[in-house]
Amino acid sequence: MEILSLTDRIFIEVKSLIPTACEKMNNFSAEILRTRGGRLGSGMGALLEALWGYMMNHLLQEKNVDCEIAWFPGNQYNDFACLSKGSFWDEVSRSGELFRIEAKSMNIAADESKAHFDVLRKDLFPNDALLILVWSWKAINECYFYPQVIDSFFERSIPLTELRDSLHLCRGGSFVSSSNCPDGCNPDLCPHVGEPLNAAGKRERITGPENSRPSQKVAYAANFGGLVRMLKTDNAIARTQFRTIRKGNRVADAYISFIHRNFPEEEKNQFTTQEVKNVAMSLGIETRNKSKLELLIQIRKNPGYMQVFRDLPVD
Ligand SMILES: [Zn+2]
Repeated sequence: MEILSLTDRIFIEVKSLIPTACEKMNNFSAEILRTRGGRLGSGMGALLEALWGYMMNHLLQEKNVDCEIAWFPGNQYNDFACLSKGSFWDEVSRSGELFRIEAKSMNIAADESKAHFDVLRKDLFPNDALLILVWSWKAINECYFYPQVIDSFFERSIPLTELRDSLHLCRGGSFVSSSNCPDGCNPDLCPHVGEPLNAAGKRERITGPENSRPSQKVAYAANFGGLVRMLKTDNAIARTQFRTIRKGNRVADAYISFIHRNFPEEEKNQFTTQEVKNVAMSLGIETRNKSKLELLIQIRKNPGYMQVFRDLPVD
């Protein structure tokens, strides 16, 4: 039998409790966060991310799990750290930490999520995790609404950067290396190494090279790591890369399934009509005179259908 490290064990335990934490959040929200209206762009996402930390802690205590969730006092990219219970914590040396958690929220009705997973690969530690909460306004009655978490994702971040960074390169993007910084930095001192630049050579993050700023008005492009946008493929090489990584990388596969489950239009765009037909046929669905969307509606009635899409041959 495989012996798990303390960190692995806690990671699995935290992950397994997240659906319950979300349920607790929903019960709380239905009672306290109920409101008339329920608009987008309300800042509700940030409130839900914070609430998750509190609910999770409550639950960890209730279940007697040997860890606790801490909120970062500084402005690191991470929102939370999972600590050994009661341990001394030093955020600089990471002493006391088991792993860090970056929390993001997505409103299901927003055209494009504002949330980005844009932390650089080099800034991540092996057990650092990404948490995503998908939520929508749920009507309690004709007048009142509350923010309901409808789905969640929790996995290690590094495997996901493989998918994100490969597709960025497939779109013609690049990453700054020590010898080619647009600011002409001394290679030994360049703080921009690893910063993403888009196909036009413009920086994707505010911390990228100043000489690659998109324009006077726009400080950076901000497409890199967009939670839905980062999966878009607009050429054959990108699609091949997407499929190859999905087959070989469990976290990437879980992420793609999570996005496709919550944003079915993305799934429709990802696969060609012929591929959708092939999947339909392999599931015994009659394909004659049916549109791509009609087929997808039939396909989605089969619980394991995403595996069939994952296992399509890579050309
Ligand atoms: Zn530089």
